[in-house]
Amino acid sequence: MKKHNFSAGPCILPQDVIQKASEAVINFNNDNLSLIEISHRSKPFVEVMEQARNLVKELLELPNGYSVLFLQGGASLEFLMVPLNLMKEKDGKAAYTNTGAWAKKSITEAKQFGEVIVVGDSSDKNYNYIPKGYKIPSDVDYFHCTSNNTIFGTQMKVFPEVPSLMVCDMSSDIFSRKIDVSKFDLIYAGAQKNMGPAGATLVIVKNEILGRTGRKISTMLDYNTHISKDSMFNTPPVFSIYVSMLTLQWIKDHGGIEWIEQINNQKSELIYNEIDRNPLFEGVARKEDRSNMNVTFTLTDSTLEETFNQMWNGAGISGLNGHRSVGGYRASIYNAMPIESVQVLVDIMKNLENI
Ligand SMILES: *Cc1c(COP(=O)(O)O)cnc(C)c1O
Repeated sequence: MKKHNFSAGPCILPQDVIQKASEAVINFNNDNLSLIEISHRSKPFVEVMEQARNLVKELLELPNGYSVLFLQGGASLEFLMVPLNLMKEKDGKAAYTNTGAWAKKSITEAKQFGEVIVVGDSSDKNYNYIPKGYKIPSDVDYFHCTSNNTIFGTQMKVFPEVPSLMVCDMSSDIFSRKIDVSKFDLIYAGAQKNMGPAGATLVIVKNEILGRTGRKISTMLDYNTHISKDSMFNTPPVFSIYVSMLTLQWIKDHGGIEWIEQINNQKSELIYNEIDRNPLFEGVARKEDRSNMNVTFTLTDSTLEETFNQMWNGAGISGLNGHRSVGGYRASIYNAMPIESVQVLVDIMKNLENI
């Protein structure tokens, strides 16, 4: 039976991309060698890397002066690399928003290197909203935010004006909507939410902001190392980069970010409309802050839980359980999720009323 994959991550990828990736594992580039057994310095792979980089630049309309890197260690290592590379060694200071479990982890890492000022904090309501109207001190080394809170289902719709450098964890909504990249100095995202399989982390960094901390940085943790070697200082995660490249190509071939954003809006409207219409369901996130990638909701009558679970399981839906810290349900409707699959879920939600 066809499965409808609502997993939060690693997540659904376009079927077409999975097909091409599986072929490349057997025979890449018609050389009768596998993509995962050739040298990363061979011409065919260097071309993959270049194409991946170019697609990032093209889709995001990246201005000059930025580097695009494919690193390892996940977004979690970026929690550490960001303060290490951007916070001054002497009297280092940064402003962070605390909007979820990932944001909190990024704050923990930054505190090892200097003072962290939490300027917006939604932990008082188990992170069900995006703080707004906060002031960012002008003397911080940088401001850090999380654009989409994967676990709680909230998303920043507008980004604040920032008097310092602007850093953003976009792991779970990069390439899902149009953003003005020129407002950001550093963006990072683990590939496995909206771009490809786990293993690669995309980092987009403005070159001129680096090398100002006064701190000696270990080679592997220094963004400049990876910039100078085009993300090939060490062996890159070739499979993850290749599949990410295919996914970005898939977005481009269909019409780019504008195309995917429109579909993402249709999908999220479809499911949020049902949550709001159907008295058996309730949304978790505050309406104005709802994510168009991770839709969190609960049953208003918990005695229906078993029935509902049987219904969606029976329809081939997978990965719908909410994160343990939120409970309920989470429908992750990333770029590759077809609207037809969202409709299957919405139909089940409607049917639950007739039980
Ligand atoms: C999943 C996630 C992370 C952690 O990513 P890893 O690649 O597993 O380290 C960080 N931030 C956000 C917003 C996420 O969704």
